Amino acid sequence: MATTRKKKRVLTKQHRAMLLRIVDRRIREVSETVGELEQTNKTREQEDNPAVSLLEASGASHETECAHMLFSREGILLKALMDARQRLALGTYSGLCETCDLPISLARLKAIPETVSCIHHSAA
Ligand SMILES: [Zn+2]
Repeated sequence: MATTRKKKRVLTKQHRAMLLRIVDRRIREVSETVGELEQTNKTREQEDNPAVSLLEASGASHETECAHMLFSREGILLKALMDARQRLALGTYSGLCETCDLPISLARLKAIPETVSCIHHSAA
C-alpha cells in the first residue's frame, strides 16, 4: 500500500511561478467583482425610493439577498485565492491533494488554482 504513494510529484519552480500568475489574475478579477457589488449596494442605498423602502421594511428584497450571497461567496473565494497565493509564494506548495496526498493535475490547478483537493476529493 505504502509503495503506491512514492510517486509524489513536487511542482517545479516554473510551475509555481505560472500558477502564481494565474492566482494573481484571479485575485484581481474577484476583487473587481466584489468592488462592483459594493458599488451596486451603495447605489441602491442612496436611492431614496419610497417603494423600495417599503419593500425593504417588510424584509430584504430578493435581489438584495442574492447580492449578499454572491458577495460572501466571492469573499470566500478571495480568501481561498489569498491562501493559495501565500502557499505558492512560500515555495512549500507541492500541489498534493489534502485528502489522499496524491498530486493534483496541473491542468486542474491551472483551472482552479485555489483548490486543495484532487478531482476525486473535490467538494464542488
Ligand atoms: Zn484526493
